Amino acid sequence: MSDATRVLVLNSGSSSVKYQLIDMADGARLASGLVERIGEGQGRIAHEPSTGPERDRYEPFPDHTAALSALADELAADGMGLDSPHLAAIGHRAVHGGTRFTEPTLITDQVVEGLRELVPLAPLHNPANITGIEVARKLRPDLPQVAVFDTAFHATMPEYAARYAIDKATADAHQIRRYGFHGTSHQYVSRRTAELLGKAPEAVNVIVLHLGNGASASAVAGGRCVDTSMGLTPLEGLVMGTRSGDLDPAILLHLHRVGGMSVDEIDALLNRRSGLLGLCGDNDMREIGRRMGEGDPEARLAFDIYIHRLRKYIGAYYAVLGRVDAIVFTAGVGENSAAVREASLAGMDAMGIALDSVRNAVRGSTPRLISADSSRVAVAVVPTDEELEIAQQTFAVVRRTAE
Ligand code: ADP
Repeated sequence: MSDATRVLVLNSGSSSVKYQLIDMADGARLASGLVERIGEGQGRIAHEPSTGPERDRYEPFPDHTAALSALADELAADGMGLDSPHLAAIGHRAVHGGTRFTEPTLITDQVVEGLRELVPLAPLHNPANITGIEVARKLRPDLPQVAVFDTAFHATMPEYAARYAIDKATADAHQIRRYGFHGTSHQYVSRRTAELLGKAPEAVNVIVLHLGNGASASAVAGGRCVDTSMGLTPLEGLVMGTRSGDLDPAILLHLHRVGGMSVDEIDALLNRRSGLLGLCGDNDMREIGRRMGEGDPEARLAFDIYIHRLRKYIGAYYAVLGRVDAIVFTAGVGENSAAVREASLAGMDAMGIALDSVRNAVRGSTPRLISADSSRVAVAVVPTDEELEIAQQTFAVVRRTAE
């Protein structure tokens, strides 16, 4: 194997770039950081090398070129710059791959063009991803760069799960189908869950509950996604921090016709002012827990609505899978909130699901089982690591290409 074993993972948003440098020889995290407030007056870069303390710098980053140059400089200051011979590739998180990109993809001009054609499906995310890719390619034109798509893991869904029951010609004309998101996390977590059970991914059926600020559930049969709760966009499904999740679609018509709201106002309402925030004024589960402790009825109701939706998806995916080997919680809420885990599975003994309340209450940062020994279905907490998954998939593409 060559000495080039490091992968720089870039997650480019419209005003921020998150990054990690990972050595695939041993999975070690060599540096991580965040450039934020790109295009605003004063920006910030927070860079944390594994060898020393975090360094914060405040300066304007007028565009992504400035932001990526700044992170390249920080890496260079630690002897790990973009010109390092140890750098094997850059892996880019890409949000929407449509039906075209269902695998991690080596980036070429045609791929960038393909991403551009998908912008209408992800108008907020894909343009920022493309900018990040273009700037990185300018900085290191000779270095392999790979796009890893948030939608890709869900591409194995059968047509009957991916299609909406609307007029076929209209759906086809506008590429309307369920794509699903958080795929990198669902893939990583379902595989780690199989490892935790000591089984091959092909041998287990898992319900993955990715509960962060955005939240999604998926049904994974033998390592392949067969259904997921997010749809054409990340708005569908579970109750989230600020997004409504499932709604009667006629509510949108009603808000427009009767409420006089514009399309943009409805968009902002459902994506930014709904979910837990809309229900009780807080989108952070820690704050909601604290308020419930004080007997706050609004926080209690928001929690109950969140849990009710989650339980409905667990039941639905139980039926979709037929046999469930494990239910796994991940992301900010899933990894940290024992109360959410307990409430979402309470009273499911008849379905073979029983939590061990002591195990559930123990905090930890490693994959762990929290079910009772008597539980037919294993229940687990598996911290997600999307950056590591992106780095692994990127490195695999680079090695395959080099063969
Ligand atoms: P994102 O979707 O932005 O990546 P994360 O997966 O980091 O989000 O999850 C962030 C959310 O996790 C916070 O909004 C908060 O609700 C929740 N969270 C974080 N820590 C805790 C905790 N100790 N207890 C309950 N919820 C927590």
